[in-house]
Amino acid sequence: MNFKKLLLLEDNKLNWKLSFLLMLIAFVFSMAIRYIWIYDFSGVSEFNWHGQLMINTNDGYAYAEGARDMLQGFHQKHDLSYYGTSLSTLTYLLAKILPISFETLILWMPAVFGSLLVVPIMLIARALKQEYMGFIAALLGGIVWSYYNRTMAGYYDTDMLTIVTPTFVLWSLIYNIVYEKNRYLLYIPFFMILSLWWYAQSYSLMMSMIIVMAIYTFIFERDKIFFYKILIFMLIAIASIFLWLKIILFIGLFLFFHLKQETLSKKTLVLILTVVFAIVLFTGGFNPIIAQLKGYIFRDAIASEWDNLHLHYFAVVKTVREAGQIPFEVFADRISGNPTIFILSVIGYILLSIRYRVMWLALPLVGLGFLALKGGLRFTVYAVPPMALGIAYLIMLISKFFNTFIFKEKTLKIFKVGFITFATILILYPNIKHVIGYKVPTVFNKQEVSVLNSLHKIASREDYVVTWWDYGYPIRYYSDVKTLIDGGKHSGKNNFSVAYALTHDQVSGANISRLDVEYTEKSYKEHFNSNLVEILKNYKEPSINVFLEKIKSKSFVLPKKSRDVYLYLPDRLMNILPTVDLFSNINLLTGQEKRRPFFYIARNFKQVGNVLNLGGIKIFLNSGSIQIGKQMVKINHFDTTEYDKKGLLHTNIRQLDSSAPINVIYMKNYHRFLVLDNRLYNSTYIQLYVLENYDRDLYKPVILTPLAKVYKLKR
Ligand code: MG
Repeated sequence: MNFKKLLLLEDNKLNWKLSFLLMLIAFVFSMAIRYIWIYDFSGVSEFNWHGQLMINTNDGYAYAEGARDMLQGFHQKHDLSYYGTSLSTLTYLLAKILPISFETLILWMPAVFGSLLVVPIMLIARALKQEYMGFIAALLGGIVWSYYNRTMAGYYDTDMLTIVTPTFVLWSLIYNIVYEKNRYLLYIPFFMILSLWWYAQSYSLMMSMIIVMAIYTFIFERDKIFFYKILIFMLIAIASIFLWLKIILFIGLFLFFHLKQETLSKKTLVLILTVVFAIVLFTGGFNPIIAQLKGYIFRDAIASEWDNLHLHYFAVVKTVREAGQIPFEVFADRISGNPTIFILSVIGYILLSIRYRVMWLALPLVGLGFLALKGGLRFTVYAVPPMALGIAYLIMLISKFFNTFIFKEKTLKIFKVGFITFATILILYPNIKHVIGYKVPTVFNKQEVSVLNSLHKIASREDYVVTWWDYGYPIRYYSDVKTLIDGGKHSGKNNFSVAYALTHDQVSGANISRLDVEYTEKSYKEHFNSNLVEILKNYKEPSINVFLEKIKSKSFVLPKKSRDVYLYLPDRLMNILPTVDLFSNINLLTGQEKRRPFFYIARNFKQVGNVLNLGGIKIFLNSGSIQIGKQMVKINHFDTTEYDKKGLLHTNIRQLDSSAPINVIYMKNYHRFLVLDNRLYNSTYIQLYVLENYDRDLYKPVILTPLAKVYKLKR
């Protein structure tokens, strides 16, 4: 037996009804797995709002805001709403048609659309006449670790279709190559344009598909004119020309190909191809690729964010986990469920591509997925469809070897089906186990949302809420206000003022908040690049460090107030306070980070006699001193906070030694001790949120709850 022969599988092409039934089963299976999270959490009242489980992805709120605004029919100028984006538009249309609540819609959309991946996977296998292989691949692909993470119920983000649509592109290519019929040609640009509309960043994927298709044509099918037609259609699909022009070209060329079927020469097609290629080239078609390569592959390009003029901000990349390199095991888990399955999948994919060479066309997906090893976790999903097909093929191939020693037809069938079933369960198992253990919480909990809901009734749509970027999108969705920073706008430059406001004194906090709000609005009209630089210019202050000293004063003259500003201070900010601080604890002139502040949260503590042990840190109650590591220092403030039955906060603020560097706050109801230095102790966040010790001239409490507090700026 030669090698090629070893790779042969018996064709199985089912009638369309049976094929559809298998597709439906795979889809339902994928949905059922996604129901596990809903089943687990719908009973947890904290995760529900308006009688529905909330979503679990921060970015989702941006699209939800966009869809909400589209349903309203309006939004505010410069509110950063995702009005009109693909996902918001799709959601808007579905919300118009479907008789379900908006909350239910955004909860389920990712599960339904994400599960659609089973369709192109099975269609690809059907085109290869390997439908059982397709079924196995679909069962796996639909729920594989990373794919599940990005398309689970509540993961309301563009991910729900970013893999589905390119997989359809792959199918349309394979289908065209297998059947070589002009009438199928239009599928290719349709799915390519759909992919690009849905997720503009898939441009480089589409481009690499064209490049691979060109290489494929050159190596295997140089003489077949049909392949030139495919390339022409692909290039037009990605050209940056008007959509109507593309449609005219597609129809025109389609008719031309159809009518000239017999006389069309390779020469004519190469000529058309050259013209189309020139159009793509001269309309800057290759520029995004170069830009993306710079951004994703050469990570240094993002890591050093030297901003305008002379200010050096903190580089966000230092705090982002996704951008880091990942170990092989994690990478393999994400793509296939575990390293063994992954390696077998790679082998399977290679064998599959040797047997059906059209499968080489999936290389861009494989390549982009494997880029995760360098570029970060989020890329792994791309490799899911080809790897799933790879392992499914390997399973079918191995089952073939029962033929060599079992000769009774019936026994053979039993063994084969038994083996295939067993192997399929084996590859699904680690992935289902992952799903069961993957208990992601919702972005916000009910109490926080009810605070934002109240704020919605108080604040106007033009008002700003100053808070950390993590809460930007959800706040805009629930309160319909504006924010300074959010999940898409949080560079070191944008974060500086907010970080400064939260981690520095109350006066600076009020001043910089007002300044940043007014200058942010101003920047939309005057198009300056940096608020701070513009502020320095207008105040005729050449030094940023002198300026930051000046805003410590209540007599600092602020620009005219154009709207109200609120501060949103949630409890969950406590955990990331040191990270927030990094963004403003920096010398903007040099980019030099300043000494890190002392901040420690103790959740486990024990008192023995006069010594309070906070785990590594000891407080000596009778002497008012604290031992941190080997150092013994005096305690400045030793405060206690406690809520009464009405939910009002009572604080006991005691100053033991005003010259001491360290403060202790016992937050009784939270069962938590804070140990912190003077700057953080006096910071806006700690004073306003933890102690409700606000400066009456600067702030007015608006909503005070244990999990989140809102203050209105009086300046
Ligand atoms: Mg709005």
